Amino acid sequence: MPSIMHIVVCVKAVPGSTEVKMDPKTHTIVRDGGAAVVNPFDATALELALRLRDARVAAGEPSRVSVLSMGIPATEALLRDCMARGADEALLLSDRAFAGADTLATTYALTCGIARLAKGAGEPALVLCGKMAVDGDTAQIGPELAGALGAACATDVREILACDEKAVLVRAAVDGGMAELELPLPAVLTVAKEAAQLRMPSIAGVRAAATAPVPVATAQAVGADTTRIGLAGSPTQVVRSFVPEQRSRAVPVVGAPAEQAARLVQIIAEVS
Ligand code: FAD
Repeated sequence: MPSIMHIVVCVKAVPGSTEVKMDPKTHTIVRDGGAAVVNPFDATALELALRLRDARVAAGEPSRVSVLSMGIPATEALLRDCMARGADEALLLSDRAFAGADTLATTYALTCGIARLAKGAGEPALVLCGKMAVDGDTAQIGPELAGALGAACATDVREILACDEKAVLVRAAVDGGMAELELPLPAVLTVAKEAAQLRMPSIAGVRAAATAPVPVATAQAVGADTTRIGLAGSPTQVVRSFVPEQRSRAVPVVGAPAEQAARLVQIIAEVS
């Protein structure tokens, strides 16, 4: 019997609105349980993982998709929604000790979560992340995870073209265009938002997900080193964050081309 291909998708809960509230003391995002959504890039990553799993299962090759998040307890509902859309299992890392993590501490916590998931479904052949989170926006977690796991990494992936037990072939954006890249497994892929649209949940999926277990693990439960998580484990601190003041100095230049040219000459003369 072929071994199960385990695919882990990292899913971050991000604010559902564009108005992000910051904690003035810690300079971290206030995650107070208000409307949160799955980071749109992660939704795409999940769809690519589900398509790969479905293709493999249809070919008689067992495969499982796990979703993993570090977040507040309310993130459980988002993971359940991922299960309604087809994910086989979920794990939520939730503990005050994880709060305030920078990318290094987040990466470490996620590796602890991946190790926990591996105990059930085996070491993941693929870890899929979004290319970036729409709130923190550093786009560091995927490549950092690849480094921490000793895995190959491709960023800005648009399509998974093929995957077997040994390697994955992807189409990814590179400087100046697209490239087809073959990576040995295990590999971490960061996925572009435009690569796919996450499927709708099925009625059967919603029913199954409603009662499916979504384990919530504390730092202790996943054996995390408390000096490497949360604010304590974060060498990077956001010292100040603010909404930039909008100072519009744009001057519309209108009229016939000759009038516009004359006006531009006048403006250049004024500022030079
Ligand atoms: P990205 O690297 O942009 O996310 C990529 C992917 O990683 C996501 O699509 C998702 O698949 C996965 N992922 C990310 N977080 C999680 C999670 N909690 N659970 C599951 N999957 C996840 N930290 C720094 O180290 N350096 C900085 O310069 C920095 N600047 C910041 C600036 C601002 C304004 C804010 C609000 C935060 C900043 N942070 C910084 C903290 C950073 O947001 C956190 O480290 C965060 O946990 C992960 O970074 P990210 O959101 O940028 O993720």
